[in-house]
Amino acid sequence: MKRLPLSVATLALLASFSTAAQNFDNDKFRQLDELLPTPTDTRTASGAPGHAYWQQRADYRIRVTLDEDKRAISGSESVTYHNNSPDTLNYLWVQLDQNMFRSDSDNRSISSYPSRDAWRTAAAPGGPGSAQTGLQYEAARFLVESRKFDGGYKIASVTDGSGRPLKVVVNKTMMRIDLAQPLKPGASFSFNMAWSFKVPETNVLGRRMGFERFDKEDKNNLFEIAQFFPRMAAYYDAHGWQNKQYLGDGEFTLEFGDYEVEITVPSDHIVAATGELQNAGTVLSSAQRERLERARTSGKPVVIVTQAEAEAAEKGRATTSKTWRFKAKNVRDFAFATSRKFIWDAQGYTKDSSKVLAMSYYPKEGNPLWEKYSTQAIIHTIDQYNKYSFDYPYPVAISVNGPVGGMEYPMISFNGGRPTKDKKTGELTYSRRTKYGLISVIIHEVGHNYFPMIVNSDERQWTWMDEGLNSFMQFLAENAWEENYPARRGEARNIVDYMKSRGQQPIMTNAESITNRGSNAYAKPATALNVLRETVLGRELFDFAFKEYAQRWKFKRPTPADFFRTMEDASGTDLDWFWRGWFYSTDAVDISVDGITEYTIGTKDPAIEKAWNKARHDAEPVSLTDQRNKGTLPRRVDAHPELKDFYNEHDDFTVTNRDRNKYNEAVEGLEDWEKALLKEGKHLYLVDFSNLGGLVTPLILQIELQSGKKTIERVPAEVWRYSPKKITKLIVTDEPMVGLTEDPYLETADTDTSNNAWPRKATPSRLELFKSRQPQDDMMKDYAEKLKVKDSKEAVKAAEQAIEAGKPADKGGE
Ligand SMILES: [Zn+2]
Repeated sequence: MKRLPLSVATLALLASFSTAAQNFDNDKFRQLDELLPTPTDTRTASGAPGHAYWQQRADYRIRVTLDEDKRAISGSESVTYHNNSPDTLNYLWVQLDQNMFRSDSDNRSISSYPSRDAWRTAAAPGGPGSAQTGLQYEAARFLVESRKFDGGYKIASVTDGSGRPLKVVVNKTMMRIDLAQPLKPGASFSFNMAWSFKVPETNVLGRRMGFERFDKEDKNNLFEIAQFFPRMAAYYDAHGWQNKQYLGDGEFTLEFGDYEVEITVPSDHIVAATGELQNAGTVLSSAQRERLERARTSGKPVVIVTQAEAEAAEKGRATTSKTWRFKAKNVRDFAFATSRKFIWDAQGYTKDSSKVLAMSYYPKEGNPLWEKYSTQAIIHTIDQYNKYSFDYPYPVAISVNGPVGGMEYPMISFNGGRPTKDKKTGELTYSRRTKYGLISVIIHEVGHNYFPMIVNSDERQWTWMDEGLNSFMQFLAENAWEENYPARRGEARNIVDYMKSRGQQPIMTNAESITNRGSNAYAKPATALNVLRETVLGRELFDFAFKEYAQRWKFKRPTPADFFRTMEDASGTDLDWFWRGWFYSTDAVDISVDGITEYTIGTKDPAIEKAWNKARHDAEPVSLTDQRNKGTLPRRVDAHPELKDFYNEHDDFTVTNRDRNKYNEAVEGLEDWEKALLKEGKHLYLVDFSNLGGLVTPLILQIELQSGKKTIERVPAEVWRYSPKKITKLIVTDEPMVGLTEDPYLETADTDTSNNAWPRKATPSRLELFKSRQPQDDMMKDYAEKLKVKDSKEAVKAAEQAIEAGKPADKGGE
C-alpha cells in the first residue's frame, strides 16, 4: 500500500479518477432495445399483456382405452378450436408428439443419445497410446430397440363436425389440417380424430412417458401416459404457428382449454389423472370414497388404497374393464397414470383461494420413502410457491412414482426415486441422496404447475423460462423445508464451475441447441434470479416484481421480453445490464482487488504536518552506505565542532514562526465547516479493481479496521458504467483499514476468489501425497498367492495351466 498525503482540493478530482474512454461495443450498460421485440398493443413496453392481448383456446373431449397386454393405447377425440386472434386462418397445425417414438423420427436420426456419458474410453492393456472404447449396456439397448420399436401415432381418421374426412398433411411430429372454409377471427371449428399407438417402455426407449414392467416381481405394469392425444399447436402474436418439431429436448407449447376425458382400463387398476374424478361412485369402493372424503380435512396424509390392498390387487388380473371420467378446466394439457400396483394417499390443503387435494400414487417398491414424503412435499410446494406467485387454482395436485424420473403435467407429475432393496435380506433402505433427491424432484415437478402449466411460456423456444424460474422457486421452497437443506441449484457459489467452463452458451439459447441443459437452463437462471434477489434488488423489490410477473402472465403466454420488462417495471430498476450479462452473454464474474493507496487529509497545521513528514522520513530504510559508515567513519565536524551552526540543530521538519503565522492566517480565513473538515482525521483509500470475468456486478466490500471492527460496503454495479474493465473506488474510514475482502459471502458467483482479498490470502487446500509407482499387474504373484505355491517355478506353471484352462487371473475387479 502506498501512503500519500492528500489535500482537500484534490478530493474533488477523485470523482472522475476512474473515467476511461467509453467503448460503445463494450458498453455493458447499453439498453436492450436492439435485442428485444418492439412493444405492441398485445405486449406492452412495461412487460404486461396489452389491451389487445389475445390467445387461442382448444377444448377437448377424449376417450382412450388401455390394452394392458399389448401395452397400447387407442382413442378418439373431438377438439373445438376457438380462433381468438385477429387473423383469418386457412389451416390448423396439430402436434403429433408421440411420433418422436417412431423408428424413423428426426429424434432417432439426429439424437445425441447415447449421450457422451454413455461412452467410456479407457486405457487398454496395449500400453500408452492405445485405448478401448466402452458403451453402456442401456445405451446400446436404446440404439437397437429404438430402431425396432413400432412407435408413433397410427391415425385412423380426421373428420369435421359432420363426419366428413378433412384433408391433412403430416409433417413428422406435426399435422396440418386444411380448412374448407377459412376460420375467421372470433369463430370456432370442431373436428374429430381417432388414433392408436404402442406405449414405449420408459427405461428402454422412453422420455417423459411410457410404461414400466415388473416382470421379475409380480408380472405387472405401471403406465405413465402423456403426449397421448394429438394436441393443437400454439398460434400466437409473437410467432404465428409454433413450428418447431418435437426433436426431444424442446418441450411443449400448448393452448389452454377445458377437458373431459374418459379412460378405460382393467377394472382392478387405479387411475391418477389431470382434473377431478367425475364418477367416484362407479370406480371406487365405498370405503375408498369415505377415506377420500376424510383426507380433505385431515392434518396428515390419509391412505385411500393401502399397501395391503395394492399387494392383493397385484396378484390378480381383471378380465373386465372400468371407465374413469375426469374433467379439467383451463389446463394446457392432460396426462394420467394407471396400474393395479398403486398405493394411494391424499391430504387436503386450504389456504386463501387455494383448495386442493394433494395426492400420491406409488407402488410398494416406493415405500417407506413415498408414504412419508410425497404428499407432504406436494403441500409444501403449494404453500411456498403461493407466497411468491399466485394461489394454486386447481382442485388436485398429484405426484406419481413410476419409470419417468421427473416430468410435469397440469395437476399431475411423474417422479422417480425409490429405496434400494437389499438383494439378500430384501430390506428396503435409502441413501441421503435418494431422500433429498425425491423431495426435490417432487417440489420441482409439482412446482411446474406454476411455470409453465399456468404461466404458459413457450417451452419449445425457451427452456429457461420454465425450468430456470421453477428451479429458482424450488430453491426457495427447499430452503423452507429444513435448515441446511442440500439444495443443488440456486446458491451463487454452486454455479462457479459452470461459469468457468469452456463452450458455454448464453441462457438465451433455443431449447434444442442447449448442450448442457442442467447448468444452462436450470442452474444458471435460478442462480441469476437469486443474485438479483439477494444482491442486486434486495428481497422486497424482487419479490414484488417476481409476483407481479406471475400475476400478470398466469393463464397467458409470456415471452422473455415480458419477463425482463416486468422485472424492471415493477422494481423500478433498469436491469438491462443484468439481463445482458447473465442471459445474453457467457461472461462470468471475476473481480480482482489489484491495489490500494492510502491517503489522510492534510490538516495544514505545520506542527502536525511537519511531524507527520518527519515520521515518514524516519521510517525510510537506512541506506547500506549509511549503515556501514555508522560508528566507523570519523567526521570532520566532530573533530572541529566550531564548524557546526543553527542548521546542525534544525532540519526541514522544524516548525518556524513563519510557518505558524502563515497557518494562523489561513485558518482565520476558513469557514467553520471548513475548519471542522480539516480536523476529521478520516482515512481515505483508493482501491483498484479489475473486472477479469467481464460480467458487471455489484461490489460487496468487507472492510476490516485496525480495531478489529468489520463493516460491509455495498456498491451498485453501475460503478462499472464508465469503465467496465478497471475502476478505482474511494473508501473512507474513521480508522486505518487493515484488510479488504470483495464478495465475502460468495454471493456473486465470483469464479476466482483467490484475487478477492487485500492483503492476499493463501487458499487452504489439501494435498494428497501418492506413491510415484503404481504396483504393476503381477500375474505370477497373484497365482503364487492364490494357489499357495512356494517358488516362482511352480507359479509360472500354475499360471500357464490356468490361462490354458481359460480362467482369468483375477476375479472381482472394478
Ligand atoms: Zn423441470
